[in-house]
Amino acid sequence: MPWVNFHSHCHYCDGKAAPEAYLVKAIEKGFPAYGYSSHAPLPFSTKWNMKQEQLPAYLEEIKLLKEKYKEKIQVYTGLEVDYLGRSWGFHNPFFKNIKLDYTVGSIHFVDHFPDGRPWTIDGASEEFFRGFELIFNNNVQKLVRRYYELVKEMIIMDHPSIIGHLDKIKMHNRLKPFLDDQEGWYMDILEETLDLIADNKCIVEVNTRGVYRYGQTDLYPGKWILGRIRQKKIPVMINSDAHLPDEINAKHAYAAAILKSIGFDSLKILKDNRWTECPFTESGIIWD
Ligand SMILES: [Zn+2]
Ligand SMILES: [Zn+2]
Repeated sequence: MPWVNFHSHCHYCDGKAAPEAYLVKAIEKGFPAYGYSSHAPLPFSTKWNMKQEQLPAYLEEIKLLKEKYKEKIQVYTGLEVDYLGRSWGFHNPFFKNIKLDYTVGSIHFVDHFPDGRPWTIDGASEEFFRGFELIFNNNVQKLVRRYYELVKEMIIMDHPSIIGHLDKIKMHNRLKPFLDDQEGWYMDILEETLDLIADNKCIVEVNTRGVYRYGQTDLYPGKWILGRIRQKKIPVMINSDAHLPDEINAKHAYAAAILKSIGFDSLKILKDNRWTECPFTESGIIWD
């Protein structure tokens, strides 16, 4: 049975290959649909975001691929859009006339270093722990509350179709544990965040990147959060956050097995241009 993937980078951002290479691989693996979500431009430059002037070429290239491969696979145009606070997100006029099939809304930056540099929580661990100390005084509750405050603001301001790697703030826990995600205060924050996600009808992606890249056992989001997502009937999809063509279905089967064990019976994906609940097994989705 086939898989699909709607969180994919390419060489317009920090992905390692041209958009077509991911599609050729997807067709080879029997995917019926594929979605691109390069890191959208930001108001400052980073090593991994698309530059503002590249956006038209990205959109045009995917449009051409849609046409070229229309008999073989459905192609969807998305962007992984950072929410930085009120100053930048999909609500910004920069995105006003951009036609997309969907967005992945993600938080990679939380506030600034004292010198004004934006602080990423998704980079090297030295950078993470430096910001944790300088901006948040190593106070885990302050940091985590701020992170989820941004997630919630993003939902209200940007209405993303998909919430990207919901609990990414735990990423650096694997090297130096600083967060116990079973503590009451943390669970309360998640509960509130999930209620807002449910009210706004966003899809939560189950992101496998930490598993295949860093050998984590835990997905984004982790298992107990997925249990709450199931209880609240929030739709989910499995995404690999691919940066290489070989990663397009990396650990999809692993994620599917976990979702099955929790009781999920369908994944919400774009099919024939409509968000559709597709039944799945550990070996793929039931597309027809
Ligand atoms: Zn991301
Ligand atoms: Zn990504």
